[in-house]
Amino acid sequence: MGTVPDWNEALMRDHVHVRVPHGVGLTEDGELVEESRCRCGAVWTRTYRSKDPTAE
Ligand SMILES: [Zn+2]
Repeated sequence: MGTVPDWNEALMRDHVHVRVPHGVGLTEDGELVEESRCRCGAVWTRTYRSKDPTAE
């Protein structure tokens, strides 16, 4: 699960968030970062670490 800013906790009770994929990117460490946003302003970021030891 992603993280939701504390200031959005009240909004969460007023509607069901709709996570719209907003884009993905790579960090300098090679981690994949996926960002999703609800139209209410809530933002989620999920980081995927590349732990495949066989990857070059
Ligand atoms: Zn929302």
